[in-house]
Amino acid sequence: MARPPRVRIISTGSEILQGLYPDTNAQNLSRLFFEQGFEVVGHSAVGDHRPRTRATLENALSDAELVVMTGGLGPTEDDVNRFVIAELYGLALVRDARAEEMLRERFRYRGITMPERNVVQADLPAGCRTLYNHWGTAPGFFLPPVQARPALLALPGPPKEWRPMIERAFEEEISDLFPGRPRRRVYSLHVSMTAESTLNEALSDLFREGQDTELALLANRGHIRIRLIATGEDDADLDRRISAMRAKVLDRIGEKLPYSEGQDATTLEEALLAAMQQRGLTLATAESCTGGWVAKALTDIAGSSATLVAGWVTYSNEAKARELGVDPGVIEEHGAVSEETARAMAEGARRKSGADIAISVTGIAGPSGGSEEKPVGTVWFALSDARGSEARRRVFPGDRDAVREFSMRQALELVRRRILSLDLDAPLHPSSL
Ligand code: ATP
Repeated sequence: MARPPRVRIISTGSEILQGLYPDTNAQNLSRLFFEQGFEVVGHSAVGDHRPRTRATLENALSDAELVVMTGGLGPTEDDVNRFVIAELYGLALVRDARAEEMLRERFRYRGITMPERNVVQADLPAGCRTLYNHWGTAPGFFLPPVQARPALLALPGPPKEWRPMIERAFEEEISDLFPGRPRRRVYSLHVSMTAESTLNEALSDLFREGQDTELALLANRGHIRIRLIATGEDDADLDRRISAMRAKVLDRIGEKLPYSEGQDATTLEEALLAAMQQRGLTLATAESCTGGWVAKALTDIAGSSATLVAGWVTYSNEAKARELGVDPGVIEEHGAVSEETARAMAEGARRKSGADIAISVTGIAGPSGGSEEKPVGTVWFALSDARGSEARRRVFPGDRDAVREFSMRQALELVRRRILSLDLDAPLHPSSL
């Protein structure tokens, strides 16, 4: 198989080195190039400093077939990338008339006079292919390899600007320049609230099989991504291998365990809302330790009003009684964090909202408030619907934030399992247990 072309990524901006924002460009570009059959051999971040940017770029140019730089294309003194690139490639900077016109038009449209120094953004290395920026001011550019210099892609810093530009660069420049590179397919299966170790065990022989199609597990507070990666030369063969591996994984974990498939970026709340909308079901939430996080996760998604009818945050015992009709005697006898209280909260929320299904969460997020019987991390959940009510106790690890995030995800996953008639507890398909 062809060797993947080597890419180096350079992020520029002193703010990155001062820790003001994370270098997500390096992360997202790495993923993109990996999926496109390249090997990313290094990242660097450099401040707005001409000699250091020069040294970083020089180093990258000696060890890559393609260098990708982001940021540093603005109009100010400290935006040095265009000068450093032109210098190292031995090219003059030439004004791009269309880029200049686009800059002027952008300012005209906003009713602002363009400061003359901004026009420097249209000065690009001679012979480059301009990547016009319809989403911001700084144009990017692509330099094909010249003599001993590898290809270079210079992009502005903001992700919403460089994303569409790099798509064009792939179509028009990069794909043709590296035609023989391996092809890759990345396919993700997203699973919620299943122990990573259980999944690991169920899939262990597939990890070993993995030369042909790699398998990886990535876990983060109750969200596990099972990632399938196939590398090869032929698209049809890659599709076949991914589909064969997917079938083996589903055979072990159960068809319905993943809440979504395919895409890398997707959330449980999106999947739950889609499943509820499909069935025309409505939901209410009654939260204590999550402080409204479950309702917030759902209402972050446009169109959630068709599903979420109401949400309560009942933190005190009085509020549980007053707002949801929980019998104070139940709280007194069993405690606020108990099966009985969780059930009464869910039943109350369903009754008061008229929703088809209600979910309640009541737990001890910590750091204080735990006991031997109910340690920090103990959380009770209850579901109430026309079939009756179901309650579950879970004990989550970690600090307050972790317990609350696990709880939010568990609440959503319990509702999803209830409406799909899946076992609320089984971590995996019965055949694999
Ligand atoms: P412009 O001046 O037109 O915004 P630029 O190319 O000069 O473009 P910078 O000034 O370096 O870009 O960065 C602009 C913004 O882009 C930053 O404030 C930040 O929000 C985002 N950004 C820049 N680099 C990165 C990075 N490596 N990771 C994530 N975001 C970044």
